[in-house]
Amino acid sequence: MTTTQKLVIVVGAGPVGLCLALALAQGGIAVTLIELLADDKFLDQVPRAGSNHPATLELFDRIGLYEKLVPRSIVAPKFHYWDRQTGTLIAEFDHVWLKDDTRFPFVLQCERIKIIEEALKMAKAHPLIEVRMATTLTGFTQNADGVSAQLTNGAGEAETVTGSYIVSAEGARSVVRKDLGVEFEGFTYPERTLNIEVAYDFKQHGYAERNYISDPVEYSNLFHWKGPPDRWRIHFPTDPNEDEKALTRPEAMQARLKRFLPLDRDFEICGCNLYAVHQRVAKKFRVGRGILAGDSAHVNSPIGGMGLNSGVHDAFNLAHKLARILRGEADENELDRYERQRRHIAVKHTQAQTIRNKRLLEERDPAVRQRNHDELRRASEDPELARKFLLRASLLESLREAEQIQ
Ligand SMILES: Cc1cc2nc3c(=O)[nH]c(=O)nc-3n(C[C@H](O)[C@H](O)[C@H](O)COP(=O)(O)OP(=O)(O)OC[C@H]3O[C@@H](n4cnc5c(N)ncnc54)[C@H](O)[C@@H]3O)c2cc1C
Repeated sequence: MTTTQKLVIVVGAGPVGLCLALALAQGGIAVTLIELLADDKFLDQVPRAGSNHPATLELFDRIGLYEKLVPRSIVAPKFHYWDRQTGTLIAEFDHVWLKDDTRFPFVLQCERIKIIEEALKMAKAHPLIEVRMATTLTGFTQNADGVSAQLTNGAGEAETVTGSYIVSAEGARSVVRKDLGVEFEGFTYPERTLNIEVAYDFKQHGYAERNYISDPVEYSNLFHWKGPPDRWRIHFPTDPNEDEKALTRPEAMQARLKRFLPLDRDFEICGCNLYAVHQRVAKKFRVGRGILAGDSAHVNSPIGGMGLNSGVHDAFNLAHKLARILRGEADENELDRYERQRRHIAVKHTQAQTIRNKRLLEERDPAVRQRNHDELRRASEDPELARKFLLRASLLESLREAEQIQ
């Protein structure tokens, strides 16, 4: 295999692969983007991420994606912590405290599916991006000159494409990560999370667009998404011994929802899904010319909305470095710096913070719960503490910290 072609193979047209492809192409680098789903199945995926934090909005804006998302999104400057035991609001955080830190002092509630729909249109329109839908990466090899990716195309035929580097943005089940023999260190929680989509206006009960609800028995998260028709998504932890069918029976979900908010009629349930929650980080983010980004490099609980966000941060960090290398402005040490920066953030910020978020919501010890709630309240009421809290929650702090790592 010899290739002098300065082309990057990006595997996976999720939010990370698409942002990476767009940022590279806009930096003058050619990309082949491989996606296993066909066009007619692409938008059938289950709803997932959707809270896009200020640091990520700055990056979306850089590639012209932000303006495409706004008409399809809800602007959410505030979020709440609630105590389900007493039905009281513990703390309200307002991103207005970040008005001097970012042009985007709010979260944009825009689901993954809308992000990838808009970004895929942009990728298909870019002359430097070749989008290969219905094409699956099955393996790859590398040598000193480049990489060679084995694919199965939409007609079921085997194909090989070559390039300078291959980036796995394939999600948690990355073929590249397995081919590289990189361990995915961490653990999986025994309980799965049940996500129920409901057409009901929770705002009339005082909820914000984003709510974290603490409860030693059954904590939850409640988020609002723009329609039409508008939806609210509510997450509950589930009993590890109960099977999926029992958990997602309409009567079982109605009962769960009515325990959360007693209503004299049924909720209009529009959808549901059950998912396992992992906390894992790849031991290495780069082996030679094979590089991991997004969920292929790290996965975490969705409490705090950090998975997609931190993956998109990987994409922009990596695009900048790969473009410099391929333009001859930097050497491959830049890729080791990518690993140092983004792995540090994955471990010290994303993992630590999401594990803490879950603990905080499910805390059983009444004294610790009280202390946690008092701290949240104090932080939300003091402008300096609120700003500090929001810098972390908005991922602006982690983005700045990564830049300091040489
Ligand atoms: C219920 C839920 C809620 C969430 N909420 C949030 C949130 O609010 N905020 C947040 O930041 N994160 C959230 N997350 C996490 C977020 O969805 C992921 O972190 C994010 O989608 C990862 O993006 P990615 O591009 O790395 O991978 P993915 O989104 O998984 O995309 C991978 C792509 O690669 C393709 N692919 C896979 N294998 C191959 C192959 N072999 N060949 C070719 N193509 C392949 C797939 O079809 C897919 O299109 C949530 C997750 C869940 C489950």
